[in-house]
Amino acid sequence: MNGFEEVLTELKRKGDSEKVKYLEGLDKRITPSQKKRIQENDSGILQELFAPKWVSRELLYAWATKNSQKETCVLCAKQDELGMHVKGKFICSNCFIEIKHKK
Ligand SMILES: [Zn+2]
Repeated sequence: MNGFEEVLTELKRKGDSEKVKYLEGLDKRITPSQKKRIQENDSGILQELFAPKWVSRELLYAWATKNSQKETCVLCAKQDELGMHVKGKFICSNCFIEIKHKK
């Protein structure tokens, strides 16, 4: 277990469902580029995300690095650890940004 999972487990044990919901929703809330900045320990990210006071940079960092194994992108076939799953398929952050700009 890393730091993030420890905190999440503790909150579940306490029954603090609001905080659990926030932490479990991070995957949807945070964009791949924001996640990258968290991994780089960008100091402005907490304000930018309007994170609640109980969320620390260490906690976000632990979240951003918890599953950092690389996956193969279905569009460019490159391996990347940052990206999105769309209908069960992995799309790397670069391709994801390209798709978004085309729309
Ligand atoms: Zn790609």
